[in-house]
Amino acid sequence: CGIVGYIGDKQASDIIIKGLQRLEYRGYDSAGLALFNGKLEIKKGKGKVDNLRKLLKKEPVKGSVGIGHTRWATHGAPNDINSHPHTSESGKIALVHNGIIENYTSLKKELKNKGRTFHTDTDTEVIAQLIEEIYQDGQNVSFQKAVRLALKQIVGTYGLAIVHSETPDRIIIARKGSPLLLGLGDGEMFIASDASPIIEHTKKVVYLDDGEIAIVTKDGYEVKTIDDVSLTKE
Ligand code: GLU
Repeated sequence: CGIVGYIGDKQASDIIIKGLQRLEYRGYDSAGLALFNGKLEIKKGKGKVDNLRKLLKKEPVKGSVGIGHTRWATHGAPNDINSHPHTSESGKIALVHNGIIENYTSLKKELKNKGRTFHTDTDTEVIAQLIEEIYQDGQNVSFQKAVRLALKQIVGTYGLAIVHSETPDRIIIARKGSPLLLGLGDGEMFIASDASPIIEHTKKVVYLDDGEIAIVTKDGYEVKTIDDVSLTKE
């Protein structure tokens, strides 16, 4: 339903919580976030963004890179486990997803046959597991390429923000049929599924189009198509 991401020098949790609150008007059943703090730390659960805020107040997680989500369940009951972010089996990949993966049942079956264990009932978990399967399986497959190859196998709609604990300097985002935009700051970048969490931070925004992937660092971004063609965006 709603996505907010941040990469820069400030405390990401504050910016993400505030951003998720700006997206509350869209409706949701759960909220969560993943932050880099040496390793990936995830806080999530059923209920209000304010519950997540309180949880973080009790158990603070420092970190200047993170992704957050408000979920409107389509596949899997609204509960703590099915809340986003979702992780790969190793826990090294975390992602938030808006939309629906139509071929998740067949992908899940294939990945289970390859020995992967699933922990949720969501369509979303399949994306994290598929990216990791491709990443671990291929020689010279970068995280970025693994994301691209995984998305080529996915049928459905997505707005995605993805992090990998081996590349804590970047967030990869992708869009197909579910809006996503980038706010350009000075040494910091904002990601969101609509403009409301971004406008208080910057007036410079870039809208992703369907079939586009962006590699976002705190100082810049690079947009490519799902077929690895570089694009210049206004
Ligand atoms: N299909 C995903 C789920 O049920 C994402 C739903 C959403 O867009 O919030 O978890």
